[in-house]
Amino acid sequence: MSTAPSTPARKRSPLQVLKTDLKIWSSHWQTISGGTIMRCGWCVEDQPLSAAGRPFVHAPDCPAPEGAAVYPWHALAALLGRLPAVKE
Ligand SMILES: [Zn+2]
Repeated sequence: MSTAPSTPARKRSPLQVLKTDLKIWSSHWQTISGGTIMRCGWCVEDQPLSAAGRPFVHAPDCPAPEGAAVYPWHALAALLGRLPAVKE
């Protein structure tokens, strides 16, 4: 029995990882009303910016997949905190 050569894992740049993470975030969440309200794309429940520090409350039958952000505003902030640095 031969062993298949292992494919070396390609090193993804921080920007590539951020793009993927933003796409995952965007597949679940939308900001509406001028970016001041967070909406679950699965159950269409909303959370205003003023409630960002509270867990997002989904509809009881929300089909959101496991692992959805509990604090989607803070999840977005964390993602944007990984933006490439400003270069002058
Ligand atoms: Zn939901």
